[in-house]
Amino acid sequence: MFEKILIANRGEIALRIQRACREMGIKTVVVHSEADADAKYVKLADESVCIGPAPSSLSYLNIPAIISAAEVTDAQAIHPGYGFLSENADFSERVEKCGFVFIGPKAETIRLMGDKVSAKIAMRKAGVPCVPGAEGALPDNPAEIIKIARSIGYPVIIKAAGGGGGRGMRVVHTEAALLGAVTMTRSEAQAAFNNPMVYMEKYLENPRHIEFQILADQHGNAIFLGERDCSMQRRNQKIIEEAPAPLLNARLRNKIGERCAEACRKIGYRGAGTFEFLYENGEFFFIEMNTRVQVEHPVTEMITGIDIVRQQILIAAGEKLTIRQRDVQLKGHAIECRINAEHPYKFTPSPGRITSWHAPGGPGIRVDSHAYNNYYVPQHYDSMVGKVIAYGDTREQAMARMRTALSEMAVEGIETNIPLHRELLLDAAFMGGGTSIHYLEERLAKRNKEK
Ligand code: ADP
Repeated sequence: MFEKILIANRGEIALRIQRACREMGIKTVVVHSEADADAKYVKLADESVCIGPAPSSLSYLNIPAIISAAEVTDAQAIHPGYGFLSENADFSERVEKCGFVFIGPKAETIRLMGDKVSAKIAMRKAGVPCVPGAEGALPDNPAEIIKIARSIGYPVIIKAAGGGGGRGMRVVHTEAALLGAVTMTRSEAQAAFNNPMVYMEKYLENPRHIEFQILADQHGNAIFLGERDCSMQRRNQKIIEEAPAPLLNARLRNKIGERCAEACRKIGYRGAGTFEFLYENGEFFFIEMNTRVQVEHPVTEMITGIDIVRQQILIAAGEKLTIRQRDVQLKGHAIECRINAEHPYKFTPSPGRITSWHAPGGPGIRVDSHAYNNYYVPQHYDSMVGKVIAYGDTREQAMARMRTALSEMAVEGIETNIPLHRELLLDAAFMGGGTSIHYLEERLAKRNKEK
């Protein structure tokens, strides 16, 4: 087992990884920017190294600085968390070339999954159901493009092969708009991702977002840990996640989960990963794979009792999975609310000093956060300041506990989206389960109109 791990991330996930390491008796090195020098998790780490000024491009994305930090502190492995360099194949390659272990998949796997065209081809080959569409990238020939769209049937969506973060896609409803949309998405993709390649698939009008968590070791074993429903989103940003997905039957769960695990075996995947699907009319359609730990991993941990970060570390150290598929029992229900430093309805970021932070507690409540009284939320990064997770024997109990937790939670000095969460936890449609990825935006639009 590793003696020392470097954590190349910040905020709640840096603390989460540190906790797993501490429990396993592994020392931690936290790298941080100048803006995060006073963060509590930086002080709690066994060692810390400042790797640059506040902007991420100069610190959390600064590969040479991170590798030098690992060198001077004698760390053996690097955990990238989520975001930042976690899905950067060049980073993982550099890490391994310099003699450290990258806690995540091989660079070639990150590269394969990072290109949505190659990912979709690989997944279709491995038996994972994909959104109907043309195989491969779109050709240049306009007549060909029109033919492809006709065969898929409108509406279609044009997506950048290198896209991410909900950018680089465009929905097309009519043939008249098709070629212009392709040209525009191509030039945007070139500008944003340095890759003009685009592809086309069927646009699903009212799907849910359901994703499967998998774990795969370096010895050919892979299992799935059930699924999460992350349909409550705004601008492709998830704000509430839950596990299991409401109203999903066990047979379909096991069928799709097993397909994902089998795909991992086929491509030689290693580590934790997530297969993201759109789910509509009882069918699953693969959209992409995330090759890292996800923000919403705790809801899966709560219903399986499996510590995903600990498993990532064990797998990276070369250990065999000791959990077999039949050991994975989904028990109860868990919901996560992402607490963001932002206006609850206008969504403008609200960085600054937290003058008072009262976190909730009680049965079934877990709070993953790096925030505390007097913590200063820097303006430079993601606005998430923590996550509240509620577990219950049933979905109703998890929701009731979440309502109590949110009523106890008090944050002063900055604005947060807690008022929005309180409303959503009392929303009849959400309480019924199974709302689509458009539900939150539609609800917010209605709210604005009524005002
Ligand atoms: P990113 O990597 O940018 O997050 P994804 O491929 O995961 O891109 O898609 C992000 C979101 O865009 C999805 O969660 C969904 O809301 C929407 N989307 C993507 N593909 C489709 C599709 N074929 N039909 C309908 N919505 C889609």
